[in-house]
Amino acid sequence: MKKCPVCEKGELIQANDIVSEIEGHHFVEKGERCNNCGEEFINEKEGQGIIDAAKRLGIWGATMKLHRKLSKSARGTVLRIPSDVEKEMNLKGSENILISRIGKNKILIEIEE
Ligand SMILES: [Zn+2]
Repeated sequence: MKKCPVCEKGELIQANDIVSEIEGHHFVEKGERCNNCGEEFINEKEGQGIIDAAKRLGIWGATMKLHRKLSKSARGTVLRIPSDVEKEMNLKGSENILISRIGKNKILIEIEE
């Protein structure tokens, strides 16, 4: 059994219905989902397939929406940045960020240079 690296409580269960959305295009991928916190993990091969498909459609680099679940820690609500975004933006995890609330249900996160 694989333990979830996010909540460290749940187990990772095989899932074939993980949805990513890029510019209104939905991609369904195989991966694993935590049975406790709901965090989803796409295997690298599947992730690469989506990137290739997005490039073919000419939408790669466009606004990419990834469905993620917030989780709760003792210090508050936690949002994990998807690893592909982290890699592409070369995030080190120590950046200062600006968080703005936009309207009713949007949050904008800006990396301070
Ligand atoms: Zn978990």
